Amino acid sequence: MRKITKLLIANRGEIALRIHRAAHEMGIKTVAVHSTADADAMHVRLADETVCIGPPPATDSYLNIPNIISAAEIVHADAIHPGYGFLSENAQFAEIVELHNLIWVGPKPEHIRVMGDKVEAKRTAARLGLPLVPGSPGPLETVEEAHAVAKEIGYPVLIKAASGGGGRGMKVVPSEDQLESLMMQAASEAKAAFGDDTVYMEKYLGDPRHIEFQVFGDGEGSAIHLGERDCSIQRRHQKVIEEAPSPVISAEQRAEMGGIVARAMADMGYRGAGTIEFLYEDGQFYFIEMNTRLQVEHPVTEMISGIDLVREQIRVAQGEGLSCRQEDIRLHGHAIECRINAEDPQTFAPSPGLVKNYVAPGGMHVRVDSGLYAGYRVPPYYDSMIGKLIVYGTTRERCIMRLKRALEEFVVEGMKTTIPLHQRVIQDEAFQSGDYTIKWLERWLEDQRN
Ligand code: ADP
Repeated sequence: MRKITKLLIANRGEIALRIHRAAHEMGIKTVAVHSTADADAMHVRLADETVCIGPPPATDSYLNIPNIISAAEIVHADAIHPGYGFLSENAQFAEIVELHNLIWVGPKPEHIRVMGDKVEAKRTAARLGLPLVPGSPGPLETVEEAHAVAKEIGYPVLIKAASGGGGRGMKVVPSEDQLESLMMQAASEAKAAFGDDTVYMEKYLGDPRHIEFQVFGDGEGSAIHLGERDCSIQRRHQKVIEEAPSPVISAEQRAEMGGIVARAMADMGYRGAGTIEFLYEDGQFYFIEMNTRLQVEHPVTEMISGIDLVREQIRVAQGEGLSCRQEDIRLHGHAIECRINAEDPQTFAPSPGLVKNYVAPGGMHVRVDSGLYAGYRVPPYYDSMIGKLIVYGTTRERCIMRLKRALEEFVVEGMKTTIPLHQRVIQDEAFQSGDYTIKWLERWLEDQRN
């Protein structure tokens, strides 16, 4: 066991702040690294020490491995937490961190590598007994092979990038005559976005839900699950609203699927936090990918489990093991998260700029994870998410009522935000009844326009 005394947070925005908070509650000092564009950011203001690691473009700062490692050495940090995005799923970075005798607050590099290649991830998932979406057994080498697989599983099919992420590099192929051209397009898009043109094929599920399980391993062969999150409210394959538990999963299904994923993680010797993502249709789960990191939507799980996931990550990284066993975990009530973006709520055009006024909602069971404050200027260089509102209720109905109230209180002046979009979505009958799928939000947006 090696105690962490000073943690470098290799990230920015709300997640850097989130990690800082957990660390301080454990008596651990924090180091914020930042680009020149983030000198005034809240995560920089609150950290014990700060190091500027480069100019605004992420490739020169938040993705700049030599600068981050140098920063850790200069301040004598003993651990690095990558947050999500940026370097969080970069196996090589994890290896470099460990080579420098720093504690990597994350999974073993080999597991990051396997799950980062979606084709390998599916092979591993199959071996561990998880149900898969029917598709190509490996990467698609030729157009002929693609034709053969598509014929077998039936159109429509989906071409996906092996190195894909954030919903990019995907093409739906409705029929045979479009297969070749769409496959080429997907490969060239994947090459441009991820530097890897490997693609594979899956059956395109018509109207599934996105349901993911939170898992946690101690790296020594024990693992637990913390139930599921329903992340079906999406736009362009990006999550917008997430909730836990899913309105359509029964306690029996949760225990069964949760048991399967936890056993799979135990068999793997998985270490730290992970998310196993499934599509869910007609009562069946289909594995799509595993994320070997903390997720944006992790707070909904924290709300219904009472477990601080970042604290668990730090514990496991220190070799202390998990704080609880499966039988100690009691999921209760309901939680919903709204991702608040600096975007026009109708066109979704980014709207960064100066925050003229900022009032976050409060009250019982209301949590706001955000680095915003009045006078702060949201830089245009990064993701448009400026905060998350997470609300808990003893029942889903109460949770929605509280969310409505909290959104009414939320004031962000000086830029357009997606708060008005959330207000309208949660009033919709389909949302209120929990009767929605991954296609629902886009259809709803289309209807609103007409
Ligand atoms: P990424 O890593 O790019 O986010 P995922 O594999 O996690 O890619 O998929 C993102 C989203 O794309 C899913 O939540 C779902 O909305 C959609 N999707 C992925 N695979 C399929 C599929 N086989 N059929 C239908 N929709 C899919």
